[in-house]
Amino acid sequence: MTLTTRPLHEITLLSQAERLKGRPKLCSDCGICSSSLRPRMPDACVFVENQSEAIEQRLHGRNRRDGDELLFGIYRAVHVIRMRNINPDAQWSGIVTGLGALLLERGIVDGVITTMAVPGTHHAPLPILARTPEEVIASARNKPCLSPNLEILDAVRESGLRRIAFIGTGCQVHALRALQDELGLEKLYIIGIPCTDNVAYPDMLRFLQAASKSPDTVVHHEFMQDFRIWLRHEDGHVEKVNFVDLDVSAMGGEIGIFPAACLSCFDYQNTLSDLTIGYLGAPLPPTERWQWTMVRTEVGEELFNLIRPYLEEGQFTQRGNRLLGVSEYVRMLKRPRGRPPWPIRKLIAWMQRNRGPRGLEFARSVIEMKLLRNLQFVRDRHGRLERRIVPNHVYRALAQYSQVYEEEFGTPLKAPVR
Ligand SMILES: Cc1cc2nc3c(=O)[nH]c(=O)nc-3n(C[C@H](O)[C@H](O)[C@H](O)COP(=O)(O)OP(=O)(O)OC[C@H]3O[C@@H](n4cnc5c(N)ncnc54)[C@H](O)[C@@H]3O)c2cc1C
Ligand code: SF4
Ligand code: SF4
Repeated sequence: MTLTTRPLHEITLLSQAERLKGRPKLCSDCGICSSSLRPRMPDACVFVENQSEAIEQRLHGRNRRDGDELLFGIYRAVHVIRMRNINPDAQWSGIVTGLGALLLERGIVDGVITTMAVPGTHHAPLPILARTPEEVIASARNKPCLSPNLEILDAVRESGLRRIAFIGTGCQVHALRALQDELGLEKLYIIGIPCTDNVAYPDMLRFLQAASKSPDTVVHHEFMQDFRIWLRHEDGHVEKVNFVDLDVSAMGGEIGIFPAACLSCFDYQNTLSDLTIGYLGAPLPPTERWQWTMVRTEVGEELFNLIRPYLEEGQFTQRGNRLLGVSEYVRMLKRPRGRPPWPIRKLIAWMQRNRGPRGLEFARSVIEMKLLRNLQFVRDRHGRLERRIVPNHVYRALAQYSQVYEEEFGTPLKAPVR
């Protein structure tokens, strides 16, 4: 394992404010600005200029078609999958780290940029350049906090490696794609994980304290399709908390806990990767650990074919219709309601679990709500940046909510003149 010469343990554990000093207002700590690539920040940073549509043109020769591509990004194929031999320590079935390990085992790459936990913690992220399959497997599981993964490009350069795989989030992949041609790499494989509502490490601890009866023993948590957070503890037991029971206002509301960058992010599905591997559109129950993948590029096809013999394939499911629920969400964005009393919360949780959208329709509804919330956040707080950081496909994706948006906000949803 190769660490950079900088003391990443310390950096990762700093408070968000200290860590981001001297950076633009919107920063997700992708790693560029704490590496020797910092001078390239203006050309790489998704929060300076969102270049996703130009990068799509370069990767695919086109932009997104109407329909699901507007939400999921451009893909050649989409599959429900899980590892035949599920890694019980992984976030889901372990496809991401399984694939990274396989690339090293077969000698296809010489290093994999992946994220361990800082020793002695469950969740503080520590990006590394893994050189053996075992090191990649040891990095399984989410450390659901901002992680400066691109900082490891310095270690790649220092070690002279030319064939690498990168595992990371959408904002990191944007910067990596923007600089890809100048890194002197012979081969680059980009395995994307979906990402939304990430947090700085200290805020993640604050969140666990609010959500769990035993925050220190949580080793894994995930926001599930059944509208509950599942928190797995060191002894294996799973604690389930209804979304609606979470007292977000006690944490200062979404704005109090999520970094401004993540509230200005429009790439939940990591659409510029070669292959995205997540869980959002996969069938329940979570205990079966089904995942979904979007194969995006020719390199993504190579990756998928490599891991395919180790996978089981499942079927997509879907239920419900998101339009009413998402329209209601637009109204709530304008006129937020307080936390209802417990019996009403219980009813809402039951309705969400039993009547809410499922499978692919659930994925569409969640992505649309994040796009709406983040567009409104940018308009309210960083209006001058809208033209530069909100890609055009966001307005195309949300066009069906134009009427309710205009009724509520008294302004058009459509893109400002660029
Ligand atoms: C903050 C966050 C939010 C997410 N939200 C969603 C979501 O809403 N919907 C969805 O479908 N999927 C989401 N994911 C991805 C999902 O939880 C799984 O990581 C993914 O499905 C892979 O599962 P796996 O079992 O194949 O991964 P594993 O084999 O367990 O490997 C996990 C990989 O994630 C990498 N990783 C861990 N933490 C970080 C980090 N902070 N930054 C960058 N890389 C990291 C590790 O290096 C490892 O390579 C999120 C991930 C993160 C980190
Ligand atoms: S997101 Fe990355 S490139 Fe942008 S300011 Fe932060 S560290 Fe720099
Ligand atoms: S939510 Fe977006 S900006 Fe924040 S870490 Fe994830 S991909 Fe990056």
